[in-house]
Amino acid sequence: MAGKSGNVTPMMAQYLELKAQYADALLFYRMGDFYEMFFDDAVAASSALDIALTKRGKLNDQDIPMCGVPVHAAEGYLLTLIRKGFRVAVCEQMESPEEAKKRGYKAVVKRDVVRLVTPGTLTEDSLLDARRHNYLAAYSEVRDSGALAWVDISTGAFHVMPCPRVSLGPELARLSPRELIVVDGSEAEFQELADDAAISLSSLGGAAFDSTAGEKRMTAFFGVKSLDAFGQFERSEVAALAAILEYLEITQKGKLPLLGSPVREQQNSAMQIDAATRRSLELTQSMQGGRNGSLLSTVDATLTAAGARLLERRISSPSRNLQTLISRLDPVSYFVDRSADGENLRDLLRAVPDVDRALSRLALDRGGPRDLAAIRNAIGQATHLADRIIDDELPELLTFAASSLVGHDDILDLLDQALVAEPPLLARDGGFVAEGYHEELDEMRTLRDEGRSVIAKMQAEYAELAGVSSLKIKHNNVLGYFIETTATHAERMMSEPLNETFIHRQTTANQIRFTTVELSEIETRILNAGGRTLEIEKQIFETLKDTVVGNSAQLNQLSASLAEFDIATSLAALARREQWVRPELDSSRAFEIEGGRHPVVEEALKSSGDPFVANDCSLTDASIWLLTGPNMAGKSTFLRQNALIAVLAQAGSFVPAQSAKIGLVSQIFSRVGASDDLARGRSTFMVEMVETAAILNQADDRALVILDEIGRGTATYDGLSIAWATLEHLHDVNRCRALFATHYHEMSALSAKLDNVDNATVAVKEWEGDVIFLHEVRKGTADRSYGVQVARLAGLPPAVIERAKVVLEALEKGEREGGSNRKAIIDDLPLFAATPPPVAEPAKVSEVEIKLKELLPDELTPKEALNLIYELRGLV
Ligand code: ADP
Repeated sequence: MAGKSGNVTPMMAQYLELKAQYADALLFYRMGDFYEMFFDDAVAASSALDIALTKRGKLNDQDIPMCGVPVHAAEGYLLTLIRKGFRVAVCEQMESPEEAKKRGYKAVVKRDVVRLVTPGTLTEDSLLDARRHNYLAAYSEVRDSGALAWVDISTGAFHVMPCPRVSLGPELARLSPRELIVVDGSEAEFQELADDAAISLSSLGGAAFDSTAGEKRMTAFFGVKSLDAFGQFERSEVAALAAILEYLEITQKGKLPLLGSPVREQQNSAMQIDAATRRSLELTQSMQGGRNGSLLSTVDATLTAAGARLLERRISSPSRNLQTLISRLDPVSYFVDRSADGENLRDLLRAVPDVDRALSRLALDRGGPRDLAAIRNAIGQATHLADRIIDDELPELLTFAASSLVGHDDILDLLDQALVAEPPLLARDGGFVAEGYHEELDEMRTLRDEGRSVIAKMQAEYAELAGVSSLKIKHNNVLGYFIETTATHAERMMSEPLNETFIHRQTTANQIRFTTVELSEIETRILNAGGRTLEIEKQIFETLKDTVVGNSAQLNQLSASLAEFDIATSLAALARREQWVRPELDSSRAFEIEGGRHPVVEEALKSSGDPFVANDCSLTDASIWLLTGPNMAGKSTFLRQNALIAVLAQAGSFVPAQSAKIGLVSQIFSRVGASDDLARGRSTFMVEMVETAAILNQADDRALVILDEIGRGTATYDGLSIAWATLEHLHDVNRCRALFATHYHEMSALSAKLDNVDNATVAVKEWEGDVIFLHEVRKGTADRSYGVQVARLAGLPPAVIERAKVVLEALEKGEREGGSNRKAIIDDLPLFAATPPPVAEPAKVSEVEIKLKELLPDELTPKEALNLIYELRGLV
């Protein structure tokens, strides 16, 4: 950017000074009804937003590029910029142009940056996905220990956990924060992790991560003497938490959001699922990237935003705590058994607004009357909900939740009385305070809206008082309101006792004009009434806001309770509709699924009318199943469905099966299918080996591992040997439960050698040369791979299919006859030309077809038709 120079205008000087403080952000510089951007910011923003780039004035004889967005539409543009990875410093006018003028003819309006908008610090509904958390995370390392802290400022949830560097990737994958703060200078070390999880990376100076200063910042913020009030934290944890506070201070310009006290998460409290596994199981996002087609979207029947976010948390962090899980499953069972009660509550839940986000906006001074109304409506719904709860044998979790649905009457009454039914979005324009709540406000409104009729009423009163029926009250810009009468009548009014009331103002050719104390008072009040109503409403808004924010802890609890009811009733509704069962959980190593199904594939099949074939899976005795079967038979589906059943069970949900007994799973690893990671210059095979290595190095004896077609990406013998050795390692060293799908039929022999390996296969039937997929998983091995048949189904040209059959037969024959030299067999193959003519040649039209084309059915007698059939028959 051009530097300052002597010829810069005062406004440009102000701009440059502000911009210098926010070099890494776009500066939205408020000018009247627009946010303007200049110089490089303008160039970048105009192309990112696809808006016109213009110019305004010159600096050092160079045109200054400029572009702008209207203030009323700024949110949409902000969202686009944030999505494209920009940070935006929003600079407002801190005084009106009139105020500035008072300071001097050429004074520039005072401006300041009021907020730095970054991906992790959004609060506006329009910028957020209501059903997902929006986390801002910070990672710190103090000596050898690392910690990750994260916050959702739109709900106030604030967490921290110990996190060695190796665990950072999986934890980021679990939380998928929008933004990660690291210490200045270390960005490069985290760039790859951030890119992987599509996280925007920000940094802060080392001082922000200092744990001693950080402890002070934290205790001051939370108003406590010592952090011990919240538990024991390691220094790195304090540093990460404090860095978040510091970042909020910077981005929110000192206006700090409502934060819950920091909650320390145990490192092993959640099922460990790394990024690759999350992707391959499509837990919260499908492979295509969207929510559609993910496990979460299939099971999400929640009705409230807070409920949806809670479900997202549970699905992305399945628990490993048996007690917790039982306490979460009990409410689901409760409503499965009492579906009418559940539906009754769900009717009410539908209309519950997002309390957490409304609260956070209010606390950050970004809220409006609608946020107050959201809270009022939520409390109202909660009260109705509490009335409908039949507390017969209510499980503990729900008993607790139900108790915080009530007891908010004070706030409810206040908001009920103070607010209109459907208030406007912004407090600025007024019109949200209900009638009858504030006496002066009502008066002011009457004056403002009915100014004229008030004056008309006064006119009638004065006419009577003066005994002058033609007396008028008029208005002009010089005098304002005045009473006017003719000279004849005026005399009375100018003499005693009326002259005490009527004060002479002006005499014109024909008229005499008066005012009264009352009239000038009314006038001022009418003139001021508009302004005054806004002022009073603003005051009322502030008071209401303070009351609500002052009760935030209780309101957050209310919201959490509503979310519990939402999640329990929605999972119950789902379980009943889809006939899911409650999983039996314990701390053994059992894994017994009867009639398991893949919820997402089953859902997708519904539209086609094909039934989903349920399958059993038992890993209790033989903890590893080696699964063979042709492509497309349903191996991947089977593998994933068992992993998903474990995830669902430990998310506290019923599961798609006839019965499920699961010893708690500590980690899930999934390596399914192969995908090139060309962006990072790794081949499919390399990616596969890196991921397999991660599994073999980490899986413990409580892990559930699913591996699909390991070794496919390399030459046959290489692949087979790697797959073989991998399976042995899982069996002997990791000793975990595993499902292993392979197309190397040779591996079936392993089950004879290894105690805990069973063979299973997905059955197919051969019918007239075609394969029919039964999708049934059975004990045993596949006899053939049917690759050629599958290829035919996929539409490979017939000539290629025929040729493939010839090659296959030769190879199989060679093998049967003990010929081990593949090369010799291949050399002996007849040439490709010897196979049937390629399909490219025009197909011959048969005589039968020619005859059929020529005939005109309508003109045939029954006899002729019969003869024709004989004739056609003769031709074939
Ligand atoms: P593989 O891994 O053996 O190549 P997939 O698991 O990808 O096969 O399954 C191929 C397709 O078969 C799936 O997209 C699905 O439509 C169907 N399928 C798989 N399993 C079942 C099942 N149990 N019941 C019905 N259809 C299934």
